[in-house]
Amino acid sequence: MKRIVFACAALIFLLSSCSDIGFSIRYGAKTEPVLPPQSQEIKGAPVAPPKEAVKQTEPSPVTREPEETPNVDEAIEISDESLGEGGASLIPDLSVTQGISAGGEADNSLAAFGHYISKNEERYRAFIEAYPDMALTKALALVNVNADYGYYKNITQIADPAELLVFCNKNFQLPADYIPEGLRNIAGYSIMLTDTAATAFEDMAAAVKAELGLKLIAISAYRSFDYQKALFARYAKADGEGVAETYSARAGHSEHQTGLTVDLLHMWPSTGSLRRENFQNTEQYAWMLEHAHEYGFILRYPENDVSVTGYLFEPWHWRYIGVEDATRMHEAEITTFEEYTGTFYRGTTPVTEAG
Ligand SMILES: [Zn+2]
Repeated sequence: MKRIVFACAALIFLLSSCSDIGFSIRYGAKTEPVLPPQSQEIKGAPVAPPKEAVKQTEPSPVTREPEETPNVDEAIEISDESLGEGGASLIPDLSVTQGISAGGEADNSLAAFGHYISKNEERYRAFIEAYPDMALTKALALVNVNADYGYYKNITQIADPAELLVFCNKNFQLPADYIPEGLRNIAGYSIMLTDTAATAFEDMAAAVKAELGLKLIAISAYRSFDYQKALFARYAKADGEGVAETYSARAGHSEHQTGLTVDLLHMWPSTGSLRRENFQNTEQYAWMLEHAHEYGFILRYPENDVSVTGYLFEPWHWRYIGVEDATRMHEAEITTFEEYTGTFYRGTTPVTEAG
């Protein structure tokens, strides 16, 4: 009983005192914004209590790429304007391959791809040259969402932020005054999602409870532009802007402003300690990798896509895009919303031929 009381007290404390559970309870260290990547062979494995003060054993997986941004004609800020030491280092190392590479095929017509956009032709060529091991379909998709410009370069203002498939990242910014309609508290919490996303989350949490007997704990959901602005400033002050860039979004660039995103965490039964960085070691996480798409949710910042998303692995951060698209993305084995959006260019993305 004491343990339960303690656990509840801890949760209440966190919910009430932390403006963002996020890194306001983050294990303090300036140099370890997240734990190092861990094996995901976790299904059924009993979760062990966290070791306090887990140390990051490797430097950030984000490595500096001494790139030149390939595009040169539409540049607003093409030069490698420093975002601060770590921020600039976020420029993609996009060489992870899957399947076909571009080597020696650069003269083939790219137009055969369904997501080819003629106005991007030059940029495709430059990008493929810069990342010759990348699958062509992925290269086209990433150029379609302006990944070739580099983070926070050539920022596009999102025209229709209420669209379910709204694409928000370091290159696409939500209006400062955008507040989603239909926000409501998730049942049992005082944090909000849009009604559709909240219902989907509740259904998913019920399924996890029914199938695993475990709870999905939501800890952060909708955040306003101003809130995110203050949050980022706080992190930048604590860790330096460059480090903050690897785990926190600038105002207008956070998916949390869409009301479609929820952060989860895990409570260690033995200690009552709430730690979101251990979420990847939970049965809930393993279950979500298999089933979250059935409820419309996608993992937004996967472990192996740091260079694409620009964020360190966030096993806790899940985005609602609807069952149809989440399932399509899952079945296509596309791991980032960047590639998915650039491949299917639906919703508000300005990457169609017409746009
Ligand atoms: Zn988040």
